Amino acid sequence: MILHMHGSMKLVVKNILPVLIIYFLYELSIYGQVKQPARFNTVVIDAGHGGKDPGALGSTTEEKDIVLAIALKVGKYVKENLQDVKVIYTRDKDVFIPLYKRAEIANKSNANLFISIHANYISDPRIHGVETYALGPARSNENLEVAKKENSVIVMEDEYTTKYEGFDPNSAESYILFEYMQSTYVEQSTMMASLLQKQFHHRAGRRDRGVKQAGFLVLRNITHPSVLVEVGFLSNKAEEKYLKSESGQTYIASAIFRAIRDYKKQYDEKTTEMKTVKKKEEKKMPDITYRIQVASYKRMLKKGAGVYKKFKDVYVYKEGNRYKYTTLSSNDYNDISRKLKDIQKKVPDSFIVAFEGDKRIPVADAVKITNPGK
Ligand SMILES: [Zn+2]
Repeated sequence: MILHMHGSMKLVVKNILPVLIIYFLYELSIYGQVKQPARFNTVVIDAGHGGKDPGALGSTTEEKDIVLAIALKVGKYVKENLQDVKVIYTRDKDVFIPLYKRAEIANKSNANLFISIHANYISDPRIHGVETYALGPARSNENLEVAKKENSVIVMEDEYTTKYEGFDPNSAESYILFEYMQSTYVEQSTMMASLLQKQFHHRAGRRDRGVKQAGFLVLRNITHPSVLVEVGFLSNKAEEKYLKSESGQTYIASAIFRAIRDYKKQYDEKTTEMKTVKKKEEKKMPDITYRIQVASYKRMLKKGAGVYKKFKDVYVYKEGNRYKYTTLSSNDYNDISRKLKDIQKKVPDSFIVAFEGDKRIPVADAVKITNPGK
């Protein structure tokens, strides 16, 4: 039994190592350069509901059909007009997809943006208009009700209590967790929401109900900017008719496409700007290295002799007709000064020297560059 456990533990360690390395490289690549992809190149379009889940029911329509038609049009416009952008649908036909699966599809794709498309329903038939949500705590009961309604689809999923860790879509208490939770991408998500609302109003002439926040499960686990659009109310006769019509769907899809286009433009400009700034900084920062000089000879020392016995890390440079021996290195003057104290215990007359590239320069000049204000 013990042997068996030991064996399997070894196996785990063996398997986890490459994963750790890949993860480390990944971290390195995202933090070493720009955190997100350099250019906007992937969008996930999520048509809400589907299959056995019709979503909201109008007098002659089902939410799942209207949002699918709009989603497919949006994808078509993006493919036609933004050829460097990949479109991923969470569904492109009438099928049931659990909410957690939608987030999975989005996260696997490493997309720049996730747009979930829905239609609304409310008891008051006069209410109409378009609203866009980013993930966050609901600031009004009305917004909370929208999230509750959209989240309640999980009860149609198998094992939803385990998949969503006991989340009860109809209990207000479940939503407390969103009070403490804000998407890392709240700023970008809100920006996208504003672009959408602007287009719904100007391009499609819809009533602008504004940018809102609420706790939508479908957005909760998404690892990039994400929004949920309620394109209108099926409970309002005129709006239902509009959303059902070919031209209404075309206008709404066109508005969503335009917001994606504008978001991409801003995104690409920002990342190009960041790159230029970084390049300038790199140019401004010369390659300064401090070392500690510990010896100087007319002849070159054999490896293993003299200072090589005292120090592991020895760097030699030639100045005039002498070979000078240094140890340790740092790009920071304060750091090398601390190290000097230890080295002086072994070689009392050792001192700091500075190099720009391979060229020795006065320490005072180097300090001006690496530790300005000192
Ligand atoms: Zn919905």
